[in-house]
Amino acid sequence: MNEVKKPRQPMIFYYVLAIVAIILFNSLVSPLLFSPRVTEVTYDEFMTMTEDKKVAEVMVEDNQIMFSDAEGNLYKTGLMDDPDLTSRLYASGAKFSSEIVEQMSPLLSFLISWLLPLALMIGLGQYFSKKLVEKAGGGAGSMMFGMGKSNAKVYVKSTSGIKFDDVAGEDEANEILSEIVDFLHNPKKYEEIGAKMPKGALLVGPPGTGKTLLAKAVAGEANVPFFSISGSEFVEMFVGMGAAKVRDLFKQANEKAPCIVFIDEVDAIGGKRDGRIGGNDEREQTLNQLLTEMDGFEGSKGVVILAATNRPESLDPALLRPGRFDRRVPVELPDLQGREAILKVHAKKVQLQKNIDFAAVARAASGASGAELANIVNEAALRAVRDGRRLVTQADLEESVEVIIACYQKKNRVMSDKEKMVVAYHEIGHALVAAKQSESAPVHKITIIPRTNGALGYTMQVEENEHFLLTKEELENKIATFTGGRAAEALIFGQITTGASNDIEQATRLARAMITRYGMSDEFGMVAMEQLQNQYLGGDTTLACSNETANHIDEVVRGQIAAPYDKAYRILQENLQQLHALAKYLYEHETITGEEFMDILHKTTPQIAAATAAQQ
Ligand code: ADP
Ligand code: ZN
Repeated sequence: MNEVKKPRQPMIFYYVLAIVAIILFNSLVSPLLFSPRVTEVTYDEFMTMTEDKKVAEVMVEDNQIMFSDAEGNLYKTGLMDDPDLTSRLYASGAKFSSEIVEQMSPLLSFLISWLLPLALMIGLGQYFSKKLVEKAGGGAGSMMFGMGKSNAKVYVKSTSGIKFDDVAGEDEANEILSEIVDFLHNPKKYEEIGAKMPKGALLVGPPGTGKTLLAKAVAGEANVPFFSISGSEFVEMFVGMGAAKVRDLFKQANEKAPCIVFIDEVDAIGGKRDGRIGGNDEREQTLNQLLTEMDGFEGSKGVVILAATNRPESLDPALLRPGRFDRRVPVELPDLQGREAILKVHAKKVQLQKNIDFAAVARAASGASGAELANIVNEAALRAVRDGRRLVTQADLEESVEVIIACYQKKNRVMSDKEKMVVAYHEIGHALVAAKQSESAPVHKITIIPRTNGALGYTMQVEENEHFLLTKEELENKIATFTGGRAAEALIFGQITTGASNDIEQATRLARAMITRYGMSDEFGMVAMEQLQNQYLGGDTTLACSNETANHIDEVVRGQIAAPYDKAYRILQENLQQLHALAKYLYEHETITGEEFMDILHKTTPQIAAATAAQQ
């Protein structure tokens, strides 16, 4: 793709340049141009001229004498000790004056010393900016020095570009957007029926899910130019600049129609106008300009605006009104199948061994975004190169999942035997509690090789079938699983460690959500006491209840974790034999896969072992 970006120069640069030019002009150029010529003469010439009555005006200064003749020519000469000079000059009829050099009128001098350099500057600036624009091949802008021009990157060629096939796992988004592509291909079909195409669509979803990629794919499929600009680029230091940029962007887009205009991070300009005093004027003006432009242009011309955001709730409602971004395209994190498809798309770019099981990799990479999955494939290829291999293997991919999800494996970091033992029991504690509660997800793999992010052990929980609704019981089981690590430490060593901090955090968050958002506690019932904000950016919550209630919630949360902890402790106690066997295996091998885990679990469970023995 051919990306043309104009150089950006801050405004302050031009101000400084103007001031420097004025100073230089005043100190160097104007004395040469505007000070009158003064001829230096000898003292006796001066005396002769005095005698000949040729001196019209004279001024005696500290170290020289300035004088002029009748024609107005200026002369100067050195000062001599000449007591009669004054009387002789008087006799010759010369006028004594204190200011001999004729002054320019103040207006003229102001014009010459200030406006002339400025005018020169502007002239030069326009000349150069025109040259730049000509070179860049874009339309000439109207503002001087190219200030206030949009820095929209213009991808004039999009044929070589991205197609919908490159975007995997976002079928819903693909479907909605392919209608736009069809419109761009064949606007007549829609016009005949009298249907109006939506002017804009808002791509909503967490970072790295392929929103930019989708917008490019729309342009690629429709084979139209692609203008892309980030919302934050509109927000400038000077009021009015952002609005000018918006105007310019739409002007360019109209010239190139049909085309796609993509505005990334639209929330940077399109945030709610809350009417606060001292709010961001600039942003508001920019937003207003955007609204005006969107209302102004004819939808039938074929300019389609796609915007991306991960904070849809913070957008100004005016933007979401029909006739503006009235289509909302959810671009969510990919599910299991989606992840597999994305991995396959990116795997096409690398040399793979045969029979790679992408499903297994996708299952391990639960929660990864498209960008992270792309990264996983690349990491796997890097790993193959590092090992001097020509093909990427299954192991490369699986290892990369761990690298991307849990940071780099650090084999050389030494852990004492005692620590290793504690971590082994801790991790098996989680896994065993999970396995024993029928509805919890089985374990994919546990490893106790320390990683750079500080996690000593690492349990990969795998959900065989992802589901979206969780029952109260399932949530309680999840909490029990989180507390299983700490329970194992307490049960086996009678000591507790710092290793459980992350588990505690997650358990607390879940327990809190059950009470304040899911209405799952008997005390409070179905009352929302917290509101989720920034759903796509980690999800902070704000409390919406009285202080007393908040205190009470804290207490109930405690109970909501204590009960599952007791349950986890009991499960481990009842399966002590299995716990020991599994922890021993993990301690010795440092990793244990899901199958090995289930194997040992069954072998060491007396009833199951007896049952299998009887079958044979
Ligand atoms: P966003 O704009 O949502 O933050 P991007 O579109 O910039 O995300 O995605 C970054 C990169 O991640 C893309 O260039 C692509 O390589 C990869 N990627 C993300 N989502 C997908 C997807 N659904 N299918 C294929 N690749 C994807
Ligand atoms: Zn843990």
